[in-house]
Amino acid sequence: MQQQMQFYIDGRWVTPKGKGSIDVFSPTDGTRLATIPQGEAADAADAVQAARRAFDHWAATTPVQRAEYLKKIQDSLKARTDEIAKTITLEMGMPYKLSQRIQVGSPTATFGMYARMLADFPFEEQVGHSKVVREPAGVVAAITPWNYPLHQIAAKVAAALAAGCTIILKPSEVAPLNAFLLAEIIHAAGVPAGVFNLVTGYGPVVGEALVTDRDVDMISFTGSTRAGMRVSELASASIKRVALELGGKSAAIILDDADFAVAVKGVVGNCFLNSGQTCTAHTRMLVPQSRHDEAASLAVEAARAYRPGDPMTPETTLGPLASKMQLDRVRDYIDKGIAEGAQLLAGGAGLPEGVNPGGYYVQPTVFGRVRWDATIAQEEIFGPVLSIITYKDEDDAVRIANSTVYGLAGSVWSATDEHAEKVARRIRTGQVDINGGPFNMYAPFGGYKQSGIGRELGKYGLEDFLEYKAMQFKPVPKG
Ligand code: NAD
Repeated sequence: MQQQMQFYIDGRWVTPKGKGSIDVFSPTDGTRLATIPQGEAADAADAVQAARRAFDHWAATTPVQRAEYLKKIQDSLKARTDEIAKTITLEMGMPYKLSQRIQVGSPTATFGMYARMLADFPFEEQVGHSKVVREPAGVVAAITPWNYPLHQIAAKVAAALAAGCTIILKPSEVAPLNAFLLAEIIHAAGVPAGVFNLVTGYGPVVGEALVTDRDVDMISFTGSTRAGMRVSELASASIKRVALELGGKSAAIILDDADFAVAVKGVVGNCFLNSGQTCTAHTRMLVPQSRHDEAASLAVEAARAYRPGDPMTPETTLGPLASKMQLDRVRDYIDKGIAEGAQLLAGGAGLPEGVNPGGYYVQPTVFGRVRWDATIAQEEIFGPVLSIITYKDEDDAVRIANSTVYGLAGSVWSATDEHAEKVARRIRTGQVDINGGPFNMYAPFGGYKQSGIGRELGKYGLEDFLEYKAMQFKPVPKG
């Protein structure tokens, strides 16, 4: 069992103020994998003061200097890919091969992207007689979840460092081990003391201490809409800048002219990625009324091809859920789906065959003929559960797609990109994939409605950590 005993504050590993610890459990068998320190408000305050002291100096570094640090971090992440991927697989359950590519590949690429972006990012522009400069927002508290733990950390930390902000990271207590590795890497890269700080603990304690600290200028939060509301409410007392990346209930609209074999397979793949624990997961598959059964049989076939099991075994394509809480929640939703009259076409709430009964495994599950307003069609489940919903016509499809409180993502499938784009423009979400278009880290990522405020990644993510300052000069008289 791994034991983390210290926080990274002011460029040093320091002993926490309290004696409490938090257990991290293995999703594959439910045993204790590690313990981490349970931070207190005083630990958060120490980290904030370190970040505050480091700010002026870091904010005054040049983009080229900051890019050098980001590049070093990128190189170390790359060199330690296997070790970090294994750590993330063990703490949250994604199959190892995928962890290498996504859980480590993506954050590595994010640090690289911001290093490159700094070469020519327009930090200044002339607007008439004003010089408009973009300055770092200040001390940033980054609070992150467990599902793509290092990716979500990197989207904040790399962009905030690039902007010239200093940071206190509070990672998820469910999958925190990767954050300790990142702290080691940042330290080894020589990032000045206090620029990056790591404190672990529970959201209502360490998270809220950061959100209410007057010396924190900005909160960048990714997590549930429930916690995001609380963060927003608390941050308002000191008018902090708040960026929120929250939940989703994304719809995949398969139009009548689409290639159903391709589209259904694509939607199932998207929905079941990371065992459905993806905020953008396309969990509602919308199909024309007359095509329900055809779509259902294709979806069942695709779902049955998944192999639940130990995420370190190469044959496994569906790992366990990240926590016992998540397992109970997903099983409850499956039971609720059945109780509300949806047709269970594949899977169910029971344990999949052949897995370790102590692990947090769930079957790949498909529901057919789900009412658009059923609980499983409106609430975020965060498990491998797909709902097939039928629509009358395209207007009806758009109405259903827009019928939840969320607005994060979605997809449209059609015989032509033009037709799909026409429908995509009517969907109130931050991103829409056209005919299976892949993820693009240079594009803005974030949500409409209750899916959040602000955008991460690409130049948009950097802009989120910048303030504008306009300096007016006396116009020089003409002639
Ligand atoms: P969560 O809200 O329980 O926790 C997220 C983080 O917030 C954790 O670090 C937690 O300790 C902290 N936290 C909890 N309560 C807090 C409080 N009162 N004050 C301050 N911090 C608090 O979410 P989770 O279960 O870790 O993650 C799953 C959720 O995250 C899902 O709803 C998912 O959709 C969402 N998510 C969104 C995105 C996105 O970019 N939109 C990405 C990934 C996950």
